[in-house]
Amino acid sequence: MKIFVDTHTHTNCSDHVFSSLVENLAYAKKQGLQMICMTNHAPAIPDGAHIWHFCTMEELPREVDGVRLLKGVEANVLDTEGNLDMPSHILPDMEVVIASMHPPCFPPRTREEHTKAWLNVMKNPYVHIIGHSGHPSFPYDYETVIAAARDANKCIEINNHSFAVRKGCYENCKAIAETCKKLGTKIVVSSDAHNCFQVGVFDHALKILEEIAFPEELIMNLNAERFSAYLEEFHKGRGALA
Ligand SMILES: [Zn+2]
Ligand SMILES: [Zn+2]
Repeated sequence: MKIFVDTHTHTNCSDHVFSSLVENLAYAKKQGLQMICMTNHAPAIPDGAHIWHFCTMEELPREVDGVRLLKGVEANVLDTEGNLDMPSHILPDMEVVIASMHPPCFPPRTREEHTKAWLNVMKNPYVHIIGHSGHPSFPYDYETVIAAARDANKCIEINNHSFAVRKGCYENCKAIAETCKKLGTKIVVSSDAHNCFQVGVFDHALKILEEIAFPEELIMNLNAERFSAYLEEFHKGRGALA
């Protein structure tokens, strides 16, 4: 299986990231990708991008050397109410919004509290993707949350970077992918690249999907056409929620 869209990449506006947007785009081209999403960390996390980053990125080109660039954010879940660290007047302008739990912004709590937080995130009309929820510090009720994601037309992310940095991720991600398959919930596969050499690298995530014979029709970022159609459908449906 070949994935042509990387929905989660970072650039060196954060010090813990080692490549520029230009380098990410060049590597995406080399990897044969059709589209990448620049989704830098929102401001609440240490080393996150300054809020001005998100206000000016619309000036960037729509496409570079045949690779479509979507400008988004990896926002931080802040509390069990599902609040995010992006001002409400900026969030709607993001082309792609990932919501993630990171310990510095949301210290791990109980399984019930993580479940409650995710269920509240599902009510946010601007969030498209639930980021790396296989994080071992943030267990949650897979069936309940993944059914809610399906009903809210959000994608669960299978994050390739997690396998390198988070022990216990393999089992969690496999169980999450199996639940998505069972409930018919959409997913995206992402690199969460922190340097250009990781852009478009999905090997661990794809191995899991192959092991469980995950249906390709539920992978929204299989190619640019499908991901664009998903976003368009999402935005049409958002009017009722916003
Ligand atoms: Zn993250
Ligand atoms: Zn990330």
